[in-house]
Amino acid sequence: MGRRKFVCGNWKMYRTVAEAVALAREVQGAVGASAVQVAIAPPFTALQAVRQALAGGPVELSAQDVHWEPQGAFTGEISAPMLAEVGCRHVIVGHSERRQLFGETDASVRKKVGAVLAAGMQPIVCVGETLAEREAGRTLEVVGRQVRGGLEGLTKELAAVTLAYEPVWAIGTGRTATSAQAQEVHAAVRAILRELCGGVADAIRIQYGGSVKPENAAELMSQPDVDGALVGGASLKAADFAAIVKGATR
Ligand code: PEP
Repeated sequence: MGRRKFVCGNWKMYRTVAEAVALAREVQGAVGASAVQVAIAPPFTALQAVRQALAGGPVELSAQDVHWEPQGAFTGEISAPMLAEVGCRHVIVGHSERRQLFGETDASVRKKVGAVLAAGMQPIVCVGETLAEREAGRTLEVVGRQVRGGLEGLTKELAAVTLAYEPVWAIGTGRTATSAQAQEVHAAVRAILRELCGGVADAIRIQYGGSVKPENAAELMSQPDVDGALVGGASLKAADFAAIVKGATR
């Protein structure tokens, strides 16, 4: 299919600026030149310093969230133009922790996706079902609603979007979807993308996320519609993250 694999590390609320710079250097050294597209998403406070630490290397910079307005009286928020200015190329949008803990909705995801694209960056749009939803047989319904809601009205702009399927029950739990479970949902997501944007859907990357580790990365990413990984815990260890990136090349 020719989609370049894309692996992004989500550092969540871990690492001070000094720690983040050290880890970013370690990651860049460990990953080296690769056929895989690689990004890391440190906390907001460390973005500028990490950008400088990564300068000239292949690892790209991502933010973990964004506000949808370009500026305004929104205490505590960060806008897309601000993230572009510090060198972000990607922004994670709609992570399940934002949905579950901070009231993120499909409507706010859609507004954030628009803001990221308008600022010339590329959103990584996270979707995924809870354990209760999976056990009730509602996985494809829930993920389908999140994909349609988060991308509503977009067509050819979707070429700049990455999806991340992250079953909530697999995030930070050590439980991973089997490669067959992941492929089933990824194929369903791609079918929805085809409805939204026709042949462009074949070029859109769909990452898997949820306890991706060096031991399971290659198997998951060998599935035809699994085009990379969004990695939480294992992205905080440079050697593990590099091994996951390596797994994407197999
Ligand atoms: C994530 O937070 O996006 C994630 C997938 O976390 P973990 O790899 O730790 O499950």
